[in-house]
Amino acid sequence: MAKNGAVLLGDYVACDAFCASRPLRVVTHAHADHLYGLRKSVKCCEKVLMTEATRDLAATLNGSLKLADPSIQTLEYGQVFEYGDERISLVKADHILGASQVLVEDAGGIRIAWSGDFRLEGTPVVDCDVLVVEATYGRPSCRRNFKVDVRELLVSKVEKNLRGGSVYVFGYHGKLQEVMQMLRQADVEVPFVMPERVYDVTKVCEKHGMNLGSLSLSSDKVGRQLLDNNLPCVAFYHMNMRQHVGLRNSRISVSGWEFSKPCRQIGEREHLIAFSDHSDFDGLIEYVRQSRAKKVITDNFRSNGDALAKEISRRLGVSAVSMPKDSGQMTF
Ligand SMILES: [Zn+2]
Repeated sequence: MAKNGAVLLGDYVACDAFCASRPLRVVTHAHADHLYGLRKSVKCCEKVLMTEATRDLAATLNGSLKLADPSIQTLEYGQVFEYGDERISLVKADHILGASQVLVEDAGGIRIAWSGDFRLEGTPVVDCDVLVVEATYGRPSCRRNFKVDVRELLVSKVEKNLRGGSVYVFGYHGKLQEVMQMLRQADVEVPFVMPERVYDVTKVCEKHGMNLGSLSLSSDKVGRQLLDNNLPCVAFYHMNMRQHVGLRNSRISVSGWEFSKPCRQIGEREHLIAFSDHSDFDGLIEYVRQSRAKKVITDNFRSNGDALAKEISRRLGVSAVSMPKDSGQMTF
């Protein structure tokens, strides 16, 4: 893994950041910490590989990406892209729409995988020899062993709060749309209101199969009337707007960084629901165990991978290191 966060697999592939010496770039998903140097990759790499949904989301979230650029090649899950003597494929990851893991098989049949970000419950484990694994919740304290179904809790909280008027939900791109889908599947039929950027991401999710019902822009007349008059609707905003909108309304923030309780009151009318699109610590360990990897590298760039590497070695007896370290660049 390189110092700029590029995950280097085999001889040709750099994932989730630009690497000048690699002809292939893979984008596992459209979150900003996996789009580093994308413009450079599109300009310099022979191919930039990702799913079609990730391409559409990345183009929405990162204006510099041109959908029709000839270097961009979309792949289905499981479709093999051959380059030199290596075979590259994307495997579904349960994280946000379009998210994937990456598998590179070299000429000798060695299987090298990068998990990208994932939640274990909906993610097929890649059987591999060498595994690079995300480490967001890589500390043993990061466990969400709740007795209740957090999804059901979230839906019932929204339903209850709708009796008092508009409900604001704060979260990250991708997860907001997952919450929207959950609410629709639970027959919550009130209008959803959102600012333009969230709306654009939501439209991409609808293009790729989500059915999210009535959507209004918060800047349009209909959306403004709903919010200004505190009428029953759910307003979805990015987490970074928490301090700026809906300050007098009932508010729900969805975040994975909560381990004590599935639902906790954090303000007069605000609750934090522990809903994550990442595996917790137990999920990470379980993924590594099921992958049967003989060598594991934890992502020490997007999160602190040291603790997870130590726990993998200790609990599973598998060789594990966190990368990048301070000195130099390493390839696997
Ligand atoms: Zn992510």
